[in-house]
Amino acid sequence: MKAKQSWIREFNKPLIIAGPCSAESEKQMLEIAERMDKDYVQVFRAGIWKPRTKPNCFEGVGAIGLNWLKRVKDEFGFKIATEVATANHAKLALEYDVDYLWIGARSTVNPFTVQEIAEALRDTDKTVLVKNPVNPDLELWIGAIERLQSQNIQKIGAIHRGFSTYKKTKYRNNPQWQIALDFMDKMPEIPLICDPSHICGNREGIFEVSQQAFNFEYDGLMVESHCNPDEAWSDAKQQITPERLLEILKKIELRKSDDENAFYHSQLNRLRNEIDETDQAILEIIAQRMLISTQIGELKKEHNVAVFQPERWKQIRENSIKQGQLLGLSEEFIDKLIKALHQESIQQQNSIMNKENSI
Ligand code: PEP
Ligand code: MN
Repeated sequence: MKAKQSWIREFNKPLIIAGPCSAESEKQMLEIAERMDKDYVQVFRAGIWKPRTKPNCFEGVGAIGLNWLKRVKDEFGFKIATEVATANHAKLALEYDVDYLWIGARSTVNPFTVQEIAEALRDTDKTVLVKNPVNPDLELWIGAIERLQSQNIQKIGAIHRGFSTYKKTKYRNNPQWQIALDFMDKMPEIPLICDPSHICGNREGIFEVSQQAFNFEYDGLMVESHCNPDEAWSDAKQQITPERLLEILKKIELRKSDDENAFYHSQLNRLRNEIDETDQAILEIIAQRMLISTQIGELKKEHNVAVFQPERWKQIRENSIKQGQLLGLSEEFIDKLIKALHQESIQQQNSIMNKENSI
């Protein structure tokens, strides 16, 4: 496995990037910086060009905000970070010695934009962070990182900020943790940090999502923090005060990759053996289910009956969810599982129907 890029170890602790969603005024920036705990937060963030979903909203103060970020850096000793969405933003950020530049979720979706930014940042020794695209597309996220790598940018990181969904969930952007875990699997050398603010879209969930990220051994966090969150010009609902942020950071438990303890290892091995045996039993029972469904397929074919029976599917789904709940399994999980099983059965029955029928 490739070693993780070493820039992430600069502070010898999890990388914490915090600051307002948007820079609003010099006074606001300096006040937040003043109230931020320097032992816990190393990088001060502020958006100065803001991508907004709807027009006629506050779209950021623009380049003037770079002077304010610079003051935060010079007077408080923070490293500084901002979002860049065009080649021009990138050039300006470099001119003002911004240490961490991030590509926002709405830019990551567009390979032209990413390419343009990557070229503007060619050979930079600054750190460039790539937020996941708004849609759950792992390859698009990885592709953006590869565009930076091919411009000889050495310090690269990724930010998991969740994925937008049409259906409302308790999150503003559904974390879909599995995609981030797949990202880690495919790009183990790229440090990954979590943005609980844009995942939650509210203040209440920030601790839980942050802890979850460290349970998965993320390398840090990016959290939106404002001295007067209710009055913030953007993302007011999800910003927390620097004091609340500190409380959260103090409460988070960091997890290590392993423990030398022999008892821990013997217990773990025993449980893992049990898991392996259980998985084997699950696979055997699934194979058995498929065998039955192919028999149903033959029967339907003989009687010229359609493969997909909506009423029957509805009944299977409802029953499974009910049974699953009695067994303590979540509706969301059972829904996914039974859908996958049913789809596979349908596919198998389809190929039975099509057998010897091809022209
Ligand atoms: C932000 O960090 O303020 C921001 C706009 O984030 P995202 O690109 O994740 O929406
Ligand atoms: Mn924001």
